[in-house]
Amino acid sequence: RGLVVAVDGPSGSGKSSTSRGVATRLGLAYLDTGAMYRAMTWWVLQQGVDVHDPAAVASRVDEPVISSGTDPAAPTIAVDGTDVGAEVRSEPVTRAVSPVSAVPEVRARLLRLQRQVIAEACAGPAGGIVVEGRDIGSTVAPDAAVKVYLTADAEARALRRAAEEGGSDVAVTQQILEARDRIDSGRAVSPLAMAEGAVHLDTTAHTLAEVVDQVVALVER
Ligand code: C5P
Repeated sequence: RGLVVAVDGPSGSGKSSTSRGVATRLGLAYLDTGAMYRAMTWWVLQQGVDVHDPAAVASRVDEPVISSGTDPAAPTIAVDGTDVGAEVRSEPVTRAVSPVSAVPEVRARLLRLQRQVIAEACAGPAGGIVVEGRDIGSTVAPDAAVKVYLTADAEARALRRAAEEGGSDVAVTQQILEARDRIDSGRAVSPLAMAEGAVHLDTTAHTLAEVVDQVVALVER
């Protein structure tokens, strides 16, 4: 039936590096669901739709074709056949992604896509997938064999994210992260929260290699 590893947690907790590391070590596929929400947000901005008008966003959710490449060594995200891997990390997208992700119709559409990708990976040569996001263990894959919930201190998360962004201001990065976490945690549909059966790992004082080892150990247990 395939192995699913669910990795959830707030922004900057180390989900992407950990998930890719675990997928690479175990020969599994990898899906970044945040990139799908970012791709939808990029497209909505591109169309000139007001991201703070949920009805306007909801009326367009079926239009863009969003596709995810699941190789952990080189994950991709495309909209209507065009790679948008760089665009979806831009600041306008990062600022708009939480309100767009709070729209129930956006979540319903992407949930369907995510389940398709998971089913394909489980049926394919990899035989399973590591899926990262906010609601994987609770909503997308509640039957996942292993669920982890990664956290780190707010300052550690901001430091990591600012470094990833090539030297953004740490205080500003921390403000944007915290604003995003507040919306992600407070929304009505699939809020960011620890799923039933999830193992909590605080990554603040650990290296990436240590966290990957811990998750691999949970899978091999
Ligand atoms: O993981 P990343 O920071 O790229 O996610 C961007 C945003 O996408 C999050 O802040 C959240 O609003 C949304 N998201 C979500 N559910 C997921 C993954 C991401 O709502 N499973």
